[in-house]
Amino acid sequence: MSLADLETVWQSNGETPLPECTYDPELHTGPRLTIESTEERAAREAVAREVCATCPALLLCELYARQARPASGIWAGRMPAELTTHTTELEDMEVA
Ligand code: SF4
Repeated sequence: MSLADLETVWQSNGETPLPECTYDPELHTGPRLTIESTEERAAREAVAREVCATCPALLLCELYARQARPASGIWAGRMPAELTTHTTELEDMEVA
C-alpha cells in the first residue's frame, strides 16, 4: 500500500478529517501544568487508547510513530515501547 493509498483510506466523503488527538492533545501526552498520579495516568492513557482506536489517521499515525520513535505519549493507541513490540498490518506494507 502506498502513502497515497493510506491517505485515501483516511479521507471520508472527500474530506480529510482531523486526527482525534488534535481536539485534546494532553490526553495523549499528559498534562503540562500538573502532575498526575499513577492511577490518573493509567486512566488517561486508557482513554487515549480508545480515542486512537476510532481515529481516521490511525494507520498513518502508527507508520509515522514507528519511524519517528517518540519517547513518550500515546501514539496510534500504543506506548512508545509497544510500537516496536507489536506487529500489525503495517508490517506487510510497502510505503512508497
Ligand atoms: S491514532 Fe495517532 S493521530 Fe489518531 S488520535 Fe491517536 S495519536 Fe492522534
